[in-house]
Amino acid sequence: MSRPRLPFADPDAARRHIYSLVAALACLIQVAVAVVDHLGPAPGVVWEPVVGALLCLGAAATLRYSRVSLSAVDHAVLVAATLSVGVQVVQAFGTPAAPAPRLYFTGVFLFIAGFSILPPRWAMLYTAAVYAVFGALTLTREAGQDLTLLAEMGLIGVLIGHLSIYGQQVSAKRAQTLLFQKLALTDPLTGLDNRRAMYDRLKQAFAEVPQGQDFAVIMLDVDHFKQVNDRYGHDKGDQVLQQVGAVLRAQVRAGDHVARWGGEEFLVLARVRDEGEARAVTTRLWRAVRDAQVEGLPPITASLGVAFASHADSLAGLLHRADTELYRAKALGRDRVILAGEAPPVPGRPPQERPLSVM
Ligand code: GH3
Ligand code: MG
Ligand code: MG
Repeated sequence: MSRPRLPFADPDAARRHIYSLVAALACLIQVAVAVVDHLGPAPGVVWEPVVGALLCLGAAATLRYSRVSLSAVDHAVLVAATLSVGVQVVQAFGTPAAPAPRLYFTGVFLFIAGFSILPPRWAMLYTAAVYAVFGALTLTREAGQDLTLLAEMGLIGVLIGHLSIYGQQVSAKRAQTLLFQKLALTDPLTGLDNRRAMYDRLKQAFAEVPQGQDFAVIMLDVDHFKQVNDRYGHDKGDQVLQQVGAVLRAQVRAGDHVARWGGEEFLVLARVRDEGEARAVTTRLWRAVRDAQVEGLPPITASLGVAFASHADSLAGLLHRADTELYRAKALGRDRVILAGEAPPVPGRPPQERPLSVM
């Protein structure tokens, strides 16, 4: 089944996009600064913004078109930010005046960057080192020490650290819960939905069939599967199940669902408008299983029974009906499709000569 691709469904791709956009924006700002400087009272080319613009442009292009790892980009950003703040701190050490409040904000930015990019332990060490430098800077100024700003910076640092570590724990727990949920609803052999997941889907679909629409339950059972196990081994049997699962998954339409119902039985929930459409869908599945090949094995066949939600009083009744049609398909010689309500086959005609009701 082809799933719609969301833009930014991949978090790494999203980050790559955001980083390259920020770099492109920074490039534009540097160009604007260069133009304003050029038009200013002392005309002439001011080189810093020009160099800055070129660096940002290079960074945007690298992020967009190269395979440089995002982790490397993160660390480069942290080093650049540390150097940039470091230069300002060194300048501030050179003057006796108290540092400008703006400088403490840049320190807080380093806290955020550190906790976003480094593992928690390294982030705490990094933050402590940055704070120690700011502490030394504040306490060694001769002209008035602003301890309030230093204290506030410390509090913000603790808060950022706490939120970051707590947030990481919460997202790790959420990822684990999602993984457990997925495992509980997935058949490990085929990777398809398992019976429990499909039962939930069926319950929901049955409760909400829109007016004038219908859905079909297609029950598929691999023919003579026990013989595959007996003759070729259980591993080959598993391969057959995986192959059938893959074939069905590839064949169902977007919005339809396929599950391993149990053993060598699969169930497809297919939205259909009428019987003709159900026939077409089921025929495609039947044929695809016939065409599937597993190395070293003769062709596999399957029998399929189809029932319609619109004909059923309950979900249990619907499943029972599909099962009954599947049983009929088996009884009539296997390797065929039987739809609920279909006329019985002409008596006396051998099953293999009987045209498949779906053809
Ligand atoms: P029919 O055409 O009537 O469906 O015959 P069949 O042999 O396919 O059906 P039967 O119910 O007699 O045998 C089903 C076999 O499927 C028996 C069981 O050992 C095997 N089976 C069930 N689950 C698995 C599995 O996960 N892997 C393998 N290899 N075999 C399985
Ligand atoms: Mg069976
Ligand atoms: Mg079988």
